[in-house]
Amino acid sequence: AGLIVSFGEMLIDFVPTVSGVSLEEAPGFLKAPGGAPANVAIAVARLGGRCAFLGKLGDDEFGRMLAAILKENGVDDAGVSFDAGARTALAFVTLRADGEREFMFYRNPSADMLLTEAELNLDLIRRAAIFHYGSISLITEPCRSAHLKAMEAAKEAGALLSYDPNLRLPLWPSAAEAREQILSIWDQADIIKVSDVELEFLTGTESVEDEVAMRLWRPSLKLLLVTLGEKGCKYYTKDFHGSVESYAVKQVDTTGAGDAFVGALLGKIVEDQSALQDEKKLRELLRFANACGAITTTKKGAIPSLPTAAEAMQLMGSA
Ligand code: ATP
Repeated sequence: AGLIVSFGEMLIDFVPTVSGVSLEEAPGFLKAPGGAPANVAIAVARLGGRCAFLGKLGDDEFGRMLAAILKENGVDDAGVSFDAGARTALAFVTLRADGEREFMFYRNPSADMLLTEAELNLDLIRRAAIFHYGSISLITEPCRSAHLKAMEAAKEAGALLSYDPNLRLPLWPSAAEAREQILSIWDQADIIKVSDVELEFLTGTESVEDEVAMRLWRPSLKLLLVTLGEKGCKYYTKDFHGSVESYAVKQVDTTGAGDAFVGALLGKIVEDQSALQDEKKLRELLRFANACGAITTTKKGAIPSLPTAAEAMQLMGSA
């Protein structure tokens, strides 16, 4: 199968050992490696696909730990560079009692924000069949220019572009700036996945109806997806649209569910792009992606709970 290259941030989430408490009340924290683009890369690899991660880490213990995690999980790290001066990014995450997450970031600036165009492994990017990215790498220079250059190089080399904005509002100067910048690269992507919350934010509505989702549709898109948590997902192509339900699981921590979903989706599309035109194939693929997302919610942390293909098939078979 073709290579998937995932571009962006990899960091450590510090997650309270007890759920439903504030950062002040938390008695202690667990290290949970994360960063959506890194999670996607590991999700692809765990499902048996070929994936490389491209981004920058601090040349510190945390950075080396993260690079080792990529390797252990079968992700190509040839595109990872290290910054001698800046630290690996950290985020403290509170899991509120309702299961929603709040983030407090330590990025002043962190190594991921300092990736430059000159450091891009263009050879790796040009070998990508699918090039995947988020929006956090668009927030500040020099990483922003590196991100735009990487997208351009991947597109020129014929890759499909996949975009999951992964909104983290506290990282942006303002909500208006976040919306404008996230949408500024909308026309470049072939595949876009947003969550229900992001759909509402980007369209300025409180609705996930089809008419609202269609405002994010562009003729340049091959597939637009809206994930709906336990309710599964909706899909839109130029010829058809619909929704696919997820599977009932006991949810513990949703972290990484969206990334597992994207990893599963891209891993299948890289094998067979005809699912982008064939609704029956696409629905089957989305059942698999939903199962992968569902499984990821059943354990704490993103990376430990990303499923293998066998685990996903088992959940689908038992439904
Ligand atoms: P993240 O928490 O990683 O930011 P997200 O908000 O991008 O995730 P979700 O919509 O929460 O994405 O989840 C992605 C997919 O995972 C959903 O479309 C669904 O298929 C599956 N999923 C998530 N939560 C559940 C759940 N509680 N039960 C079943 N499936 C779920």
